[in-house]
Amino acid sequence: MPGFEIFGDEERKEVNDVLETGVLFRYGFDAARKEHWKARSFETELAARLGVKHAHLCASGTAALSTALAACGIGAGDEVIVPPFTFVATIESVLMAGAVPVFAEVDDTLCLSPEAVAAALTPNTRAVVPVHMCGAMARIDELKTLCDRKGLVLLEDACQSVGASYQGKALGSFGKAGCFSFDPVKTITCGEGGAVVTDDAAVYAATHAFADHGHDHIGSDRGAEDHLMVGSNFRISELNAAVGLAQLRKLDWILETQRRNKAAIKTAMQAIDGVTFRALPDPEGDSATFLTFFMPDLDKARQAAAALGTAGVDGCFHWFDNNWHYIRKWEHFHTLKAAARLAVQALPNCPDFSDVRLPQSDGLIGRAISMQIKLGWNADQLAQRIEATVEALKGI
Ligand SMILES: *Cc1c(COP(=O)(O)O)cnc(C)c1O
Repeated sequence: MPGFEIFGDEERKEVNDVLETGVLFRYGFDAARKEHWKARSFETELAARLGVKHAHLCASGTAALSTALAACGIGAGDEVIVPPFTFVATIESVLMAGAVPVFAEVDDTLCLSPEAVAAALTPNTRAVVPVHMCGAMARIDELKTLCDRKGLVLLEDACQSVGASYQGKALGSFGKAGCFSFDPVKTITCGEGGAVVTDDAAVYAATHAFADHGHDHIGSDRGAEDHLMVGSNFRISELNAAVGLAQLRKLDWILETQRRNKAAIKTAMQAIDGVTFRALPDPEGDSATFLTFFMPDLDKARQAAAALGTAGVDGCFHWFDNNWHYIRKWEHFHTLKAAARLAVQALPNCPDFSDVRLPQSDGLIGRAISMQIKLGWNADQLAQRIEATVEALKGI
């Protein structure tokens, strides 16, 4: 997830275009902006790169998720099936919509299990939000088939997986809408930013309206000033969009570099007894931001994480013991500790989030370790890392 590694002259040039005009905003000021439309250009190039009809930038990936849920008609009391392994923002956006997160197990892809989703359906289920974690894919074709058959909204959280694909089709483009994040640690960054993509013209219209107080954006500027709907302000700034535009143009090089670095490490690790790897439904489409592997059990995973730390192999995550990405440690969420009462708490069937049982996910996440793949490693650093990794893990 290395966008932060490569802030360079290209990003500075795009930002300077904006600074020279002083038009720091994505809408309006047509004459003053001297043809610079950074957010708009980013959207056009992102849609083309992902093979979707529409892309709309937002202030963050979380804002994109909130916007996409609303644009897909998900709201008060609707049940939304989510995985327990994700960044907590996925769950927050469901709660902020007034909807009910319903957890289903992950499988060996570390993403939502299609069988577990089928088992979690109720008459109130409206949407399924698979999260393509750590740069690679869920069993997205099976999830899509299930959603189509049951008439459910498929909304992909592809925040961590821009540029990844399944059978040549971009992650984020399978469902009614897909969301991306361009925050400081993602594959490409805007500083802060996110995007909703969709092929559905009505969802797109609702997306950009919702993210800007219901403005219609027809014609020039913000359109006829009609109020299409109640929305919010999830707009991106032109400055942030400018950074992302330069980063997007480096995406293919980023993917190539990550894939090469990951392959070198993975090949060497294949020889280590007891180490197995995360299932990838389409290895070719992996964006390779992380190398995720399994140890034989929780104890050995903890030993492995410690040994990698001692050996100086940085950027390794044992998610089971990490605060932000697995439900086990979300104490604030278990008790719905919030600044103000949440809509879900007013529901007669508000789930008991302190008692969500996911033994299959506990087992898998307990054994999983992800190693971040960086762009900046030179050949020596990569060789050293491989040697240190094999050395640290082989005795466990
Ligand atoms: C980063 C992330 C988000 C939220 O994105 P922000 O831009 O940080 O708001 C949502 N879901 C997942 C899976 C993420 O990794």
